[in-house]
Amino acid sequence: MSSLLSPTTGPLERTELGEALKGLGLTSLARAVPAVLESARQQQWAYETFLQQALGTEVAGRAQRAYERRVRAAHLPTTKSLESFDFSFQPMLSERLIQELGTLGFVQTATNIVLLGPPGVGKTHLALALTARALEAGYSARFTTLRQLADELETTSWRQQRRRYLTPRLLVIDEVGYLRLTSSQAQQLFDLVTARYEQAPIVLTSNRTFAEWGALLGDEVLATALLDRLLHHAEVIAINGRSYRMKDRRLPESPSAPASVGEPGTRSIAARDGKEG
Ligand code: ADP
Ligand code: MG
Repeated sequence: MSSLLSPTTGPLERTELGEALKGLGLTSLARAVPAVLESARQQQWAYETFLQQALGTEVAGRAQRAYERRVRAAHLPTTKSLESFDFSFQPMLSERLIQELGTLGFVQTATNIVLLGPPGVGKTHLALALTARALEAGYSARFTTLRQLADELETTSWRQQRRRYLTPRLLVIDEVGYLRLTSSQAQQLFDLVTARYEQAPIVLTSNRTFAEWGALLGDEVLATALLDRLLHHAEVIAINGRSYRMKDRRLPESPSAPASVGEPGTRSIAARDGKEG
């Protein structure tokens, strides 16, 4: 590389072109240059067109690699999209609101999104779909569950925590409610919510009412202070529908079966939250 780029180098041989481009860090163009040259000859491109095509190849390649890096760093458990969400299955959920959130204004304004409801109504799906939109738009993101977060807040260094949970523009905390936190975990969660407050949004999913957060954190005062920050700028979305997981199992044979096939006692949570939140 250094010999190719040394001050004494004259015009490059065709065979050296790929190496020179690589040496300059133009790796996408280095790979594509034979095809770009071939197209240029065949279609008799103007000089300007050639340069646009060549640099366009490099710019697109870099954007693609950056996107792939963001996706890896986000640690998504699976890929979901707003396009694959069946809004007709959850008629109480405002499609207009979700599509509006999909335009990502909430990331700009650091508005949190809290998705509440019983198991299977699509909370995680929507959180993942919004994250996918954010990643496509060029934002960094990180997906975690409360269990994983609580573990890592206790066992990883402050530097690592910062990199994982503060630096990403969007943080998803899934499944709040299945785990009771220790007092140190609760304090760490509070610190995290406080650090992101008005800076960068959190998308949080839960099957619990806000009234249950005191028990969840083992501290009513801390829970109130945390919810105060979390909900100050937030879109709280309660999904009161049926479990999509039960959709195919129940509907064909017994359309009149009771809707409480999921976890007992969780069905009315979102409805109650509507009043409290
Ligand atoms: P929750 O997080 O509320 O428990 P999930 O988001 O994990 O529920 O949904 C359970 C499964 O059902 C997932 O595979 C999800 O993609 C799917 N699902 C849920 N709701 C819908 C929907 N309205 N349209 C399409 N798929 C859905
Ligand atoms: Mg879920």
